[in-house]
Amino acid sequence: MQVTILGNGGAIPANGRFPTSQFVDMGTECLLIDCGEGAQIKMQEYGIKSNRINHVFISHLHGDHFFGLIGWLNTQALLGRTKDLNLYANEKLEAILAIQMDYPLPFTVHFKALPPNESMVCVQTDKCEVIAFPVWHSIPTHGFRCTIKRNKRIMNSEKVRELEVPNYFYKKLTEGLDYIKPNGDVIPNEMVTLAGKPNLIYSYCADTGFTDAYLAFIHTSNLIYHEATYCAQQIDKATQRHHCTAMQAATIAKQANAKQLIIGHFSSQYKTTDLHLAEAKTIFADVQIAEQGMVFTVQ
Ligand SMILES: [Zn+2]
Repeated sequence: MQVTILGNGGAIPANGRFPTSQFVDMGTECLLIDCGEGAQIKMQEYGIKSNRINHVFISHLHGDHFFGLIGWLNTQALLGRTKDLNLYANEKLEAILAIQMDYPLPFTVHFKALPPNESMVCVQTDKCEVIAFPVWHSIPTHGFRCTIKRNKRIMNSEKVRELEVPNYFYKKLTEGLDYIKPNGDVIPNEMVTLAGKPNLIYSYCADTGFTDAYLAFIHTSNLIYHEATYCAQQIDKATQRHHCTAMQAATIAKQANAKQLIIGHFSSQYKTTDLHLAEAKTIFADVQIAEQGMVFTVQ
């Protein structure tokens, strides 16, 4: 799973930073998470084949998270896209898009409303899962947990043959089921399989004030993206506006027992992000700035 940063700025584009948007390649599924103004320009710049995107997630309806969507959808139409698109967002977006795009698209958009203050399973396949979970902002907002499923058990083919487990049951063995022979004898799963690799988890947390309310959703993530709009000196402003400081973002990553953290959504008042990084590092060592154009591999 790879995460490409398209925009890492806060509400106002400034200092070369575009508003929030990320491309997440999960292999079988491709996601666009938030679509701030100019996201499609960044996709072109970074060579992202945006017709691969089959799911778009909009965290909330502040303009810096979705004003790029209409332009991108229009380009997709002009490029002759026919592939269906799933769009997950607050229910109000459907009416906004209907006004903006008062003409038929050559592809179907399946709109799925995210329930305010509740979680929702958005994508569920054999290979991956995406769950929307509520975070704490001034309007209903969701974060997203993206999981690559890898925890299937691995068959011990020698043992399987020796104990005469039939072919048709192999898939069930990888799912952890015991095999029951025609004579009623049970072959415990652990006897014929080995433990699989743990899942890979990427969690996207924006925009949000500092709270432990969504910790359970992002626990043990391999990689967390967390908004870090302000530095420590502006903590009052962060609290007032339901945003986080870099140190608060790092605290969340630490409490979630995450492996790695990337931070973004920087306020336009900061010319550089050096102080954000330095402050976050005092709490959580493995932190990086979510620089535009950088590709983070979830591992
Ligand atoms: Zn916001």
